[in-house]
Amino acid sequence: MHTDTLVIHADGHLAEDSSLSPPIYYSATFSAQNAEEFAEIAGTEQPARYYTRYGNPLHKRAAEIIAALEGTEVAFVTGSGMGAISTAIFSLIQAGDHIVAQTQHYMGTSKLFSDMLPRFGVDVTLVDQTDTSAFEAAIQPNTKLIMVETPVNPTLQLTDLEAVSKLAKSRNILTMADNTFASPINQRPHDLGIDMVVHSATKYMGGHHDITAGVICTSSELMKAIWETHITLGSVLSPMDTWLLLRGLRTLTLRMERINHNAMALAEFLEQQPQIESVYYPGLPSHPQHALAQKQMTGYGAVIAFLTKGDYQATERFVAALKLPINAVSLGGLDTLVVHTAAMWAGTLNEAQMKVANIQPNMVRCSVGVEHIEDLKADILTALKVL
Ligand SMILES: *Cc1c(COP(=O)(O)O)cnc(C)c1O
Repeated sequence: MHTDTLVIHADGHLAEDSSLSPPIYYSATFSAQNAEEFAEIAGTEQPARYYTRYGNPLHKRAAEIIAALEGTEVAFVTGSGMGAISTAIFSLIQAGDHIVAQTQHYMGTSKLFSDMLPRFGVDVTLVDQTDTSAFEAAIQPNTKLIMVETPVNPTLQLTDLEAVSKLAKSRNILTMADNTFASPINQRPHDLGIDMVVHSATKYMGGHHDITAGVICTSSELMKAIWETHITLGSVLSPMDTWLLLRGLRTLTLRMERINHNAMALAEFLEQQPQIESVYYPGLPSHPQHALAQKQMTGYGAVIAFLTKGDYQATERFVAALKLPINAVSLGGLDTLVVHTAAMWAGTLNEAQMKVANIQPNMVRCSVGVEHIEDLKADILTALKVL
């Protein structure tokens, strides 16, 4: 079936009470008939009705839709994107293992690799994601996992998913992709051979800037270890937020269609403005990896980064002059969001670290929402006058 149908029907049909919108099972615990039934449920993977850290009826429904969208056997929802990423990684690695990852990742993931995993005796080598041979060169006899993220913040660089997964398979190494910036509507890493796909469902899947959630999509076999780790680490998605995630998923394909269209139009518009120095968007022919984007993506997502021709202060004035885009972090929801990237990281990163992270003083990151494109263009045109 098509994704438009899967988001409506992949979680089976009506709830047992025949309501079209499922009840929220606000219960931490569920009763069993007798001791044997308890023992059986407790030993089941992801039981829907036992204890909510183990599972909740709506967890399964949200997970079934997302697994269908990503084309994996199973999926598993967590309390946040970082909950999904850390649970998946801690389920696979042990002291003495080695991981190959990218120099650019979501900040939380980078911290996991640079600060946390080394404390547990895990070595990590970071490579330039645009260079497939760099992944190959970094592999060691104890390499257990290759972690990729594509497109990546802030300059929307890409990783060749098929090339990396081929390389990993030939060496018996597991692969994991953070597919948050693409969404399963625009990119399906598992189809290209990636073993585990993770998302911050806080972004496109939730879609309304109201919940934090995460998801891991993989095979039933790998899920066994992930499940054991999850019940120990405990990154649980609350029943209410699971309901909101389900509600968000129903309109995912509709929203992605509008978002892809708006962002493409806005990227082209920005590229034509005399006050703009350059625009980073995988859908633009000027993107250095546009051919790869066309090969592995079917749409290019909400996030655009661009450099103004002004300095730090002028860029700050431009962002402040915008009326429709809201000055806020995150991405993939209904509202257009904008951040002056260097200002956002000023408290966290020093100048040298910003250089490594590709953050320039005149850079703006925009997550395009579902407003009318002409209203967004008009607002930006007015704000550009301060530059
Ligand atoms: C937001 C984000 C995360 C972290 O997700 P949370 O839901 O905030 O924990 C991970 N990866 C990417 C690419 C993200 O954008």
